[in-house]
Amino acid sequence: MNAPADARASDAPVSREERQRRQAEVVAALRPLLPAHALLWQREDTIPYECDGLTAYRAMPLAVALPETEAQVSAVLQACNRLQVPVVARGAGTGLSGGAMPHELGVTLSLAKFNRILKVDPVSRTAVVQAGVRNAAISEAAAPHGLYYAPDPSSKIACTIGGNVAENSGGMHCLKYGLTIHNVLRVRGFAIDGAPVEFGSEALDAPGLDLLAAVIGSEGMLAVTIEVTVKLVPKPILARAILASFDDLRKAGDAVAALIGAGIIPAGLEMMDKPMTAAVEDFVHAGYDLDAAAILICESDGTPEEVEEEIARMVAVMEGAGATRFAISSSEAERLKFWSGRMNAFPASGRISPDYMCMDSTIPRRQLAEILTRIGEMETKYGLRCCNVFHAGDGNLHPLILFDANDPDQLHRAELFGADILETSVALGGTVTGEHGVGIEKLSSMCVQFAPAEREQMLGLKRAFDPAGLLNPGKVIPTLHRCAEYGKMHVKKGLLPFPDLPRF
Ligand SMILES: Cc1cc2nc3c(=O)[nH]c(=O)nc-3n(C[C@H](O)[C@H](O)[C@H](O)COP(=O)(O)OP(=O)(O)OC[C@H]3O[C@@H](n4cnc5c(N)ncnc54)[C@H](O)[C@@H]3O)c2cc1C
Repeated sequence: MNAPADARASDAPVSREERQRRQAEVVAALRPLLPAHALLWQREDTIPYECDGLTAYRAMPLAVALPETEAQVSAVLQACNRLQVPVVARGAGTGLSGGAMPHELGVTLSLAKFNRILKVDPVSRTAVVQAGVRNAAISEAAAPHGLYYAPDPSSKIACTIGGNVAENSGGMHCLKYGLTIHNVLRVRGFAIDGAPVEFGSEALDAPGLDLLAAVIGSEGMLAVTIEVTVKLVPKPILARAILASFDDLRKAGDAVAALIGAGIIPAGLEMMDKPMTAAVEDFVHAGYDLDAAAILICESDGTPEEVEEEIARMVAVMEGAGATRFAISSSEAERLKFWSGRMNAFPASGRISPDYMCMDSTIPRRQLAEILTRIGEMETKYGLRCCNVFHAGDGNLHPLILFDANDPDQLHRAELFGADILETSVALGGTVTGEHGVGIEKLSSMCVQFAPAEREQMLGLKRAFDPAGLLNPGKVIPTLHRCAEYGKMHVKKGLLPFPDLPRF
């Protein structure tokens, strides 16, 4: 499947000859700036970069640059700016919303060679790392000091901190310890004209406008990150997890709201429905209750006394909400076993379906049961199966729509199903993005979430950093034209015209 029109340079297709001419121009400009092995443009070399984790959409870049020094990053950006060529920054390519999908008339700028941990400071509890460092590598480097980096996406063994910053990534432990934005102090990088930029500081609050918050979650549209200063937190003395079974999805959803309502902030609070539990159990054999309509994985961490007390409170609250069965980890190995299924939910879905589309909306916690019921109805409406896994404590849904991308009709139905989930989330008071970003995947749904004036404000911020719109163009902020067309389709489908949807 080719990239959607918004992600291309223009709506008019570019001839093969024109593409070749532009490619020759770009390669000639970048060749003197990089070692020979750090510039790829032959098709067989650039194919590995044609998509990210949203594999249904692909595009081939004109070239892939793999700079090794800051001077090279700056020089590549200056050259692209001079030639007015789009630039798409890329970490590990694990993104699930098409954010790192190449621009077919652009350069993909890989940060893979920026993979050094520059400093771990146990006194200030910070680490300075290059953008291409893997998330898990930061915790590995901090472990000898009894510290770790808290945000833990399930993709942590592969995804990079640069990608985490761009997506404001979350994970299992973000309910208690915060998202990327709460754990990053400083970001250093380059603007599209190759000039150095810096956001935030080593201190808790930087002077001037807080542009750190603007750049975190900006999906590579404002600047290219090369270095990040992160906060480290002490590893808890003890962590234990509870597996709680429910015979009704609604009761499990209500238990989540009841836990938070009782003033408990678990170190992790995840939920899986029956189809998801069956898929992961078959894959990792974690000992999940296969009869349950839903299971909750609920973690407590702290001192042994704190954990014991919190576990007892959690069990009491979940019992009150109708839990039918509990298992409580009695060793670290058992705790990790409980989590192994949740961590492997996406790969497990890959075993039961040729393709899956992972949606990522948020809803107020009290609406968990309602959205699950509606997703069940959508399965019938679109004729596709869906497994549900959630960062339940954050109200962050990850419905995995199962389909076969070789069948264009199934892909189309999966897209409609996905859009329906996102827009139903907005109607229930939530948002179209949780932690995976907008990319190209949720462009149309952004028309539903934001009014034209709000989208214009976002564009204004982008223009202030990138006047010609060269950094990751065609992503995140939909054009007026796209929203107008999407609005017409909404009316045709008999859906609410989007200005009438309740606003978040
Ligand atoms: C199995 C699986 C599980 C996942 N689980 C989670 C999860 O639990 N939580 C979660 O939040 N996400 C999850 N993800 C999504 C993904 O891993 C995250 O979005 C991650 O942050 C992407 O990092 P990356 O290095 O792969 O970035 P990429 O995919 O390469 O890029 C993502 C975006 O960041 C931009 N970007 C990358 N590097 C830079 C840079 N140096 N400067 C500027 N922009 C840059 C790109 O242009 C793109 O827009 C999961 C993905 C998979 C495949």
